[in-house]
Amino acid sequence: GRSIHQIQSGQVIVDLCSVVKELVENSLDAHATSIDVRFKNHGLDSIEVQDNGEGINPDNYETVALKHYTSKLSSYEDLSSLQTFGFRGEALSSLCALSSFHVRTAQEKDGSKGTRLDFETSGKLRATSVIASQKGTTVAVEDIFRNLPVRRKELEKNVKREYGKVLNLLHAYACISTGVRFIVSNQMIKNKKVTVFSTKMNSTTKENIANIYGAKTLPALIPLDLTLELEPSNAPIQGARSWRMQSDTDSREVQVVGHISRPVFGEGRQTPDRQMFFVNSRPCALPQVTKAFNEVYKSFNVSQSPFIFANLELDTNAYDVNVSPDKRTILLHDQTTLLENIKTSLTRLFESHDQ
Ligand code: ADP
Ligand code: MG
Repeated sequence: GRSIHQIQSGQVIVDLCSVVKELVENSLDAHATSIDVRFKNHGLDSIEVQDNGEGINPDNYETVALKHYTSKLSSYEDLSSLQTFGFRGEALSSLCALSSFHVRTAQEKDGSKGTRLDFETSGKLRATSVIASQKGTTVAVEDIFRNLPVRRKELEKNVKREYGKVLNLLHAYACISTGVRFIVSNQMIKNKKVTVFSTKMNSTTKENIANIYGAKTLPALIPLDLTLELEPSNAPIQGARSWRMQSDTDSREVQVVGHISRPVFGEGRQTPDRQMFFVNSRPCALPQVTKAFNEVYKSFNVSQSPFIFANLELDTNAYDVNVSPDKRTILLHDQTTLLENIKTSLTRLFESHDQ
């Protein structure tokens, strides 16, 4: 029969996007400046994420893949300020339960010696071996969902679409992570490895956009820089966990920063239909905000949909990310006011660029 661990793991890692999101966030948490994502057979055979981050401390080899183990949560303060992407300690343990999984890691800067870690499906460390390795960590996930046959079949059937969603997610991480070089590749069976896209270290978000979507995208864009004032509010966030505290000193200002298509651009020229939203630099699905942006754009240009790269910078007390195990659901405070303000400011921005 299926173990409870397997069932719970299947709720943390629901698809290829969850695998990639968890691994890339771990690499960013480890302060990597270079992240190499390698797919085999669009991720069906394997997904490897290699970083040049801090590596795993040998003291933690036994525990890293145990359920609820995390090295990131040292105090309540950390929990409420959400400085790191992860803190649930569920990703590695879930991947052990759902795939053929191993880790290669090294902490020494100049040494070429590292350690390979192999685990039981429970997350218990099974074996370590000495390997050659640069500083950093590589996490390898093979045959994802191999022991959940129905989900595996679904994934095989929809792999093209799933892989497309994964690339969109990686585009978002690569665009916003200006201090990180991303390189993403795929290798089909019996073929050569193909680089899908790459960005450079220490580039601007504009340069990242040019690298990913092509330099021809840039003339179509105008800077997005909105400041929205929200009413101070002490109302609890609907559905939020009780540990979310409110304080009178919370800043109620929201900045929306990024790039967006001009309302009218050239004759018959199409801007790419790409839309990325972030909350404090984390890629997020924000359906209501997305809708508001598109509605305003449509009132200026009915024939195209805009390119949107929008980072909402707001006080960490003004939202709650950790309401769902896969951390995709975001609850925003004062959403109604926020949406109204976005529409007003965006209309003003487009009017000033409308010739
Ligand atoms: P969480 O990210 O919530 O702590 P994970 O299951 O994703 O939980 O990871 C467990 C632990 O493994 C992390 O807390 C960290 O100590 C270690 N770890 C995972 N990935 C990396 C990485 N790429 N570099 C360094 N340490 C890592
Ligand atoms: Mg994590």
